[in-house]
Amino acid sequence: MPEVLQQEFFGFTLFQIIVALVIIIVSISIIQKIVKALSSEKQVSFGIKVKCLNCGWVGSVGKYDRRCRKCISDSLEEIR
Ligand SMILES: [Zn+2]
Repeated sequence: MPEVLQQEFFGFTLFQIIVALVIIIVSISIIQKIVKALSSEKQVSFGIKVKCLNCGWVGSVGKYDRRCRKCISDSLEEIR
């Protein structure tokens, strides 16, 4: 092992610090991928903003579940 990697900083060798940094960077990128996957899934299931023509409820519904969350009516108007 090169001598520079065995040099100590704050009680850790440079080699240990590099390994820790690599682990942190890898776990951050994994977490970001998971968060991205979860948020894109959420957009698919709650994608359309609508207003209920029956009771006036306004909210988001899924693309394949176009029903009012309040009165279960399917007479919804898409709003932007
Ligand atoms: Zn309604």
